[in-house]
Amino acid sequence: MDFAFATDPAPGRRNEDHVVVSAGFAILLDGVTQLPGLDSGCLHGPNWLVRMLGAHLTEALSADRTTKLDEVLAGAIEGVSRRHAHECDLTNPDSPSSTVAIVRERDGQVDYLVLCDSAVVFEHADGITVINDDRTGGLPAYDRVSVARLRNRRGGFWVASTDPAAATEAITGSIGRSELSRLLLCTDGVSRLVDFFGFTWPEVFDLVERRGPGAAIEAVRRCEVERPERLHTTGRTVKRHDDATLAVLLG
Ligand SMILES: [Zn+2]
Repeated sequence: MDFAFATDPAPGRRNEDHVVVSAGFAILLDGVTQLPGLDSGCLHGPNWLVRMLGAHLTEALSADRTTKLDEVLAGAIEGVSRRHAHECDLTNPDSPSSTVAIVRERDGQVDYLVLCDSAVVFEHADGITVINDDRTGGLPAYDRVSVARLRNRRGGFWVASTDPAAATEAITGSIGRSELSRLLLCTDGVSRLVDFFGFTWPEVFDLVERRGPGAAIEAVRRCEVERPERLHTTGRTVKRHDDATLAVLLG
């Protein structure tokens, strides 16, 4: 399996998305933006977290194709925690965190894992299947204290941060490689094309097939400028621009 990808930070910001592709797997991470002045207990921040998680996941996925993806993720969270436990307070409920989306080919199967609000989308003979974890969509409150309290707690939502147990809450599964016609992974900065701006997934696939993954991000940026009111249809605060990343399976 070969992948093409594109990634673009929200205009004027540092990219807190991260993508790694290799023959046989793809990893997408979306670091959760921290409020300015927030004490996260960590000297490093989300940009560091996604790069370190990407490195640990890449090492594990490259070394061995048989370990279950939730175990791979738990090991990576543990590995990243070890890197900064000596200098950061990993018990802080505002520790940097990241969504995770992974696909991996193994013996004619494609395994997938999704944690938090990134997505794996595939097209097959029966249509489109979207693997997403919508537990962030139904929280009782979205203020900072409530979200910190609901993070990595039963009844709340799960995200990759300092607790390896979050990995067991990821959505995982497999599909036969021969059943797949098209597949992509994306962060919510790209899925907003479908969630808010009226695209269908087949239209996103068609656009990417014709003009490459960067064209999907160009479409996002155009919609954000031309129809920003669409982002306020759910009653939740949605950023005008967000980091946007996708990886797409080639042929
Ligand atoms: Zn740290």
